Amino acid sequence: MSTIHVNVVTPDGKVYDGDVEMVSVRTVEGELGILPRHIPLVAPLTVGAVRLKKGSTVEKVAVSGGFVEVRPDQVTILAEAAELPSGIDVERARQAKERAEKRIHSTQNDAVDFKRAELALKRAVNRLDVAGK
Ligand code: ATP
Repeated sequence: MSTIHVNVVTPDGKVYDGDVEMVSVRTVEGELGILPRHIPLVAPLTVGAVRLKKGSTVEKVAVSGGFVEVRPDQVTILAEAAELPSGIDVERARQAKERAEKRIHSTQNDAVDFKRAELALKRAVNRLDVAGK
């Protein structure tokens, strides 16, 4: 089975570095599945899970926006923040979710605060999903 090399990098350092059979990412235009020898492209990412398929296992990485650069033999994900399930503090994500939900209910007349709270909620829900909670 042919593989493609994947790097997930954040401003804090490398989160993932390995060879997989398929990687899927969530771009602003929707889910993108990438196999070896994919055409080159660059696309902005939204909050979502990166799925790394290798044999019968699928590893997930929680990503909070950034860019994906695809080359035929290499995928680079430059993320604003990214965590493997083992790196996710579930209690922190639960608290962030609760905070964001409260803000969404109390800031409905302020579009900027509302949008910010909505994004914070998406990040928290994504982390809980990737952590399997
Ligand atoms: P919080 O309100 O809890 O800080 P946030 O969504 O605002 O959450 P980010 O701005 O996305 O946090 O991330 C800031 C840094 O904290 C990043 O390095 C990110 O990886 C890390 N981080 C945020 N939430 C968690 C979490 N639940 N578990 C582990 N690391 C986290």
